[in-house]
Amino acid sequence: VSESINRIGASIGRFDEDMLAELEAVLIQADLGVPATMRIMDEVRRDIKESGDASREAVLGCIRRSILAILGEKKQLDLDKENLNILLLVGVNGTGKTTTAGKLCAMFHTQGRKVVLGAADTFRAAAIEQVSLWGERTNTPVIAHETGSDPATVVFDAVNAAKARKANVLILDTAGRLHNKKNLMEELNKIRRVIQRTAPEAKCETILVIDATTGQNAVMQAKAFQDVADVTGLAITKLDGNSKGGVAVAVAHETRTPIFLAGLGEKPDDLADFDPEAFVASLLPD
Ligand code: GDP
Repeated sequence: VSESINRIGASIGRFDEDMLAELEAVLIQADLGVPATMRIMDEVRRDIKESGDASREAVLGCIRRSILAILGEKKQLDLDKENLNILLLVGVNGTGKTTTAGKLCAMFHTQGRKVVLGAADTFRAAAIEQVSLWGERTNTPVIAHETGSDPATVVFDAVNAAKARKANVLILDTAGRLHNKKNLMEELNKIRRVIQRTAPEAKCETILVIDATTGQNAVMQAKAFQDVADVTGLAITKLDGNSKGGVAVAVAHETRTPIFLAGLGEKPDDLADFDPEAFVASLLPD
């Protein structure tokens, strides 16, 4: 984004209407999506009209403020220190749920917390294996049943295991089969009911994992998951590498849900609290 924006404004240092149209195209190509881009560009045009200032500095400042308003204030995962915290990770397969679960284990361990992992995606054998691998890798106990078993039963056992071990956090990997929304909704509801019954005191977060490299598809997934689950926060993965990052803005705009976490690679410590200011700084030129 930075380079493309620099190319537009480079020669003159102030934006005319053609350049604003180019800017709009750059934002859309950067995966911010049409609705968020329209909102940002409306604000830029209004700002120019009111102030008469179309300098590169003024325009970039306005874009920056507008994106920050869409992303909302920095919100971190806030753990309850007294009671068990249960993090339900939801999202389409391949977005990075299991990897994020593993990275969260590593993150919580460094904070001195006791963690248990539950493999509640019982549909795929590979998913269970992967959770177990992350458990070994991060030295975290894993509660898993056989492929095809009832996810709610895994959750029941996992909650009880977490309580028995006096764990601070239970991380649950769930299935992401969006093509059957009704089943998925029922499965997630059943999991919530089991949690309610077995650990009514627990603080629960449902974190939707979104892959930043999937463009506007990510926005559709996010909306679909909002329909079936009570999503309380987002984790945007694969913000390293080739992703254009703008998906974070598009998803925040469409879901109005805070982004808690940023996935920045495949290693255990490649996870960070999402910081809107730092994110915008990396997206826009200086
Ligand atoms: P799941 O099916 O949702 O559980 O997805 P996985 O956790 O298995 O991740 C799918 C692929 O994405 C794996 O190859 C991961 O290593 C990779 N992945 C996950 N998170 C990140 C990330 O933040 N950055 C990068 N570069 N790759 C990631």
